[in-house]
Formats: sequence, structure tokens, C-alpha cells
Amino acid sequence: MTQSLQALADARLAPEWRQPVKTYDDAADALGWDKALDRPICCGEPVEITAMLGHAYKATCPKCERFIFDITGPEFTGGAVAFVDSEKFDVEEKTRWVCGDRDGPLPRAQSEAA
Ligand SMILES: [Zn+2]
Repeated sequence: MTQSLQALADARLAPEWRQPVKTYDDAADALGWDKALDRPICCGEPVEITAMLGHAYKATCPKCERFIFDITGPEFTGGAVAFVDSEKFDVEEKTRWVCGDRDGPLPRAQSEAA
């Protein structure tokens, strides 16, 4: 049996970045980005898209540093690229996105927003 992408996210992210994984639409909403656009506009400019093998797995606004990241995206460590093991994780899940800005995950936890 494969593990959920939430388990993958929790394994890949530092404790302060752990968050519920989201669909792309929910993650874009959390950032205030227009999910209908291929390249959402943030701070008046199209965001920067990072892709590998035709799959966009990361988008970042260079100005406010809001970002969205596909937790199944490639991981770069010491010059090597690691891909998620599809035998181990359910890579077909749509809840695969994490997001945030320079201060931490978005949306903010309720307790911090108060
Ligand atoms: Zn921005």
C-alpha cells in the first residue's frame, strides 16, 4: 500500500513549514492568485515558473516571495536530482501542493492570525 502525499510532505518539509497538502486551486486561493491563469499575476508581474520534463512544479513571486510547490516535484541535493518513488507514495493524488511566503505557510494557522 502506498503512503499519502501528506506523509511525503511531512517528511520533506521542515517542521515550521508543515501544512495540509492542497489541490492547486486551494493553494492558489491561499496565495490570492488567479488559478485560471497558466502564469498567475502577483505584485503586478507574472510569477516565475519552474518546470522539469514539461511539468511545472513550482511557482514563485520574486517580489513578495509567495510560492507554490508540488510536493512530488524533483528534489535537488548535492548535484543530484531525486524523484518521488511512485511505488511508495500515491503520486496520483491531487492534494499535492504546499504554499507560503517568506514568513511561513499560507494560509496562516488560526492561532497565529489571532
Ligand atoms: Zn507577489
